[in-house]
Amino acid sequence: MMMKDYMRIREIAKIDEEIRKCRRCKLHKTRTNAVPGEGPADARIMICGQAPGRTEDEEGRPFVGMAGKFLNEMLESIELDRGKIFVTSPIKCFPPDNRLPKSDELKACRPYLEEQIRIIKPKVIIALGNCGLQILLERKLTTSKLHGQPQEKNGIIILPTFHPSAAMRFPKIRALVEEDFKRFKDLLVKIGLV
Ligand code: URA
Repeated sequence: MMMKDYMRIREIAKIDEEIRKCRRCKLHKTRTNAVPGEGPADARIMICGQAPGRTEDEEGRPFVGMAGKFLNEMLESIELDRGKIFVTSPIKCFPPDNRLPKSDELKACRPYLEEQIRIIKPKVIIALGNCGLQILLERKLTTSKLHGQPQEKNGIIILPTFHPSAAMRFPKIRALVEEDFKRFKDLLVKIGLV
């Protein structure tokens, strides 16, 4: 392993530790476990969701509940190895009753995602849902408008699609997400990332 990879792993581990102890917003009072995210510190691809759900809160790991099962299916359908992707969310703690994260919570948590991006330096981030998309693009744009269309921010390609919770509820959205993932695969092949 090269020195620089070792440093990255250490830096990510340090942020994990900070997140697990974080008290920057009130979500720390109701969480069981914070969910920093997981994956290789040198991942070329990152996935950014919305916020941990109940199962993620129990296990302290991202996308391990129903939404995770759906995400795994989508990744398998385009033969992407989840083990090579860094999976996280803009909010690291479970919002009670699965409500949407509030703007003060997003603001408090944002530096963690920024740090993770700075260290990992992904080429591509797949944004699942409005929350991740808006944080990454720093604009109030929606996945209904932008899904499937590559965006660019600070030299990183952002690939927007709907959040699994919407896709699991509405078959029409599921079909759109399946199409988006196929497009993403074509693009990843074209730029030589897979
Ligand atoms: N939804 C998210 O956005 N993140 C998770 O970890 C689980 C569900």
